[in-house]
Amino acid sequence: MEFDLHTHTSQGSACSRMNIWDLIQAACERRLDGVCITDHDFCWNPEELAKYSKESGIQVYGGVELSTSMGEILIYGVHQSLLHLREDLPALIQFVREQKGVMVAAHPFRSDFALSAFSREERGLEPIEVEELCRRPLFGYVDSLEIYNGRSSWREICAAKDAAKILGKKGTGGSDAHSILSVGSCVTVFEDPVVNEAHLVGQLLTGRIHAKKKEVSRNVLGM
Ligand SMILES: [Zn+2]
Ligand SMILES: [Zn+2]
Repeated sequence: MEFDLHTHTSQGSACSRMNIWDLIQAACERRLDGVCITDHDFCWNPEELAKYSKESGIQVYGGVELSTSMGEILIYGVHQSLLHLREDLPALIQFVREQKGVMVAAHPFRSDFALSAFSREERGLEPIEVEELCRRPLFGYVDSLEIYNGRSSWREICAAKDAAKILGKKGTGGSDAHSILSVGSCVTVFEDPVVNEAHLVGQLLTGRIHAKKKEVSRNVLGM
């Protein structure tokens, strides 16, 4: 089963141009089995999302993309505001554990690869060593890493893949879509069928999953 685990709607993220129904429709057109809405510091009501699931025939769950003092973290399986914990990672992880949720480092190396290798060299900066990046305290708190993000460069994706291997953590995929064009551009593949949200969250920890990039065909959208 394929899920896009990182999406934003205009209802919960000021930066998104896509409302929830457009998102779900795009996910259906791309034959996804489900989506997780991960608006910035905003939680959807799971009962409301259940209605969308029923109407659309695909699984629709809510997570959150929380801005913390150590970077952005995707949190699944928790349905209440976590804003008061974003400066206190030990308290955040304890709370998420109690709720049986999962924490994933969102696009963990986005800012590291803002400069090309060439411009780094020109500015006298050392080349980036993934082993070095893996020592960041953030990785002591998260369960896994987002490897494929639809808005990440290839170098970032490769670094995240290497880091997941070094850290012995699983990797997820999500489009980080803010408009319908990129919904499903990166996905998480669940080898065992996902039966409900708790099952999805559990599989992120212990299941057989992998992340991948997908070609999004414009024809599917009738464009
Ligand atoms: Zn982000
Ligand atoms: Zn995002």
